[in-house]
Amino acid sequence: MRYFIGNWKMFGVPKSINMLKKINTFYLKDKNRKKYRVIITPPYTLLESYAKFFKNKKISIGSQNCYQKDQFSSDTGAISPYMIRSVGAKYTLVGHSDNRNDGDTNEILKSKVELALKNNLVVVFCIGENKKDKKNKKTFSVLKNQLLKVLDKRFQKNKIIVAYEPIWSIGTGKIPTKVELEKTVIFIKKVLKVVLKKNSPVVLYGGSVDGSNVQLFKEIKEIDGFLIGGASKSSKKFIDIIKNYYR
Ligand code: PEP
Repeated sequence: MRYFIGNWKMFGVPKSINMLKKINTFYLKDKNRKKYRVIITPPYTLLESYAKFFKNKKISIGSQNCYQKDQFSSDTGAISPYMIRSVGAKYTLVGHSDNRNDGDTNEILKSKVELALKNNLVVVFCIGENKKDKKNKKTFSVLKNQLLKVLDKRFQKNKIIVAYEPIWSIGTGKIPTKVELEKTVIFIKKVLKVVLKKNSPVVLYGGSVDGSNVQLFKEIKEIDGFLIGGASKSSKKFIDIIKNYYR
């Protein structure tokens, strides 16, 4: 199974659902549809209406983040995993570099993952090294640390997907070489097998994926799908990624 996850970030209003309708129409006609899943993470404001619309359809809806406390609290502006699940979303991203930049520590991320799983959300846990880590050849130790400090074998392993997103690649048009990326994804899977005691962990790649480079990533069999930012804000570009992947 492959995953195509679109992260809309701060994008979208109610009528943007038309983009998802186009993706859904494409999906229903696509002869490869049994081979993959489509998940979109719109902003919080659209979660309920989109999740309702796509309830019995093939696109799943997820949130881009969640708060580290459960149920209700007195934290202004916070949205808990419980609240996200209650409006029909099934997935949540945790640990996106944007949120790590805003102050999400490993401790906070652990709490987010734990509570998201408790509320029956599938967690897409994002990890990635920055430019300096890469330059100093610290990629593997940074990734290992990000995984070990947050994930735990007590977690429901089937509900955790890891998205490897090198920070220097997000939104820059720069992508890792095939050799680099293959080695890194194999390394992440090796660590996950130990941490989660899971034999076939799901690992996605994210960072400047588009219709013109997706074929390169396809050559790396260990990559189970993609977390797509910029190109998910256009139904055509998103569909092109899927089309070109299966070309
Ligand atoms: C992201 O922000 O998760 C991302 C992968 O963005 P982009 O595809 O634009 O690099």
